[in-house]
Amino acid sequence: MMRIGQGEDLHRIDDGRTLVLGGVIIEEGPGLAGHSDADVLLHAITDAVLGAAALGDIGKYFPPSDPRYAHADSADFLRVALRLAREAGWEVANIDSTVRTERPKLAPYVAHMRSRIAEITGVEVGAVSVKAKTAEGLDAIGRGEAMAATAVVLLQPLA
Ligand code: MG
Repeated sequence: MMRIGQGEDLHRIDDGRTLVLGGVIIEEGPGLAGHSDADVLLHAITDAVLGAAALGDIGKYFPPSDPRYAHADSADFLRVALRLAREAGWEVANIDSTVRTERPKLAPYVAHMRSRIAEITGVEVGAVSVKAKTAEGLDAIGRGEAMAATAVVLLQPLA
């Protein structure tokens, strides 16, 4: 048996912050507003892991109202979600994800994001997909006001 989960997230752009996407610092920015490091991609993946295991959502474990998570490394959120999934008998089979943003152009960073996500999750890089899209100048993403991410995660029984 397998379990599938989906996750999505959106963060407002904040030029005063450092952009972190998929666990990778992207110096050219723009940064994202958020209580933690605002890594919209890792948040979507974390929710997909939790969703596949029917364990709730990221806000249940890491509420933005909790000062302990101010500027938190979102890789830690994902590690906790993976531990909870493992305790329920599941491990990740593969991850597919999409980031939507007008800027920066993400193509130069995709390989690094995939290898970081593989490192954080312990999944081989060949089973980690990161795709990038713009919003063709439409909606809040197209106007450069926000970035969004979606993710799908397949869980398989622990070997
Ligand atoms: Mg978020």
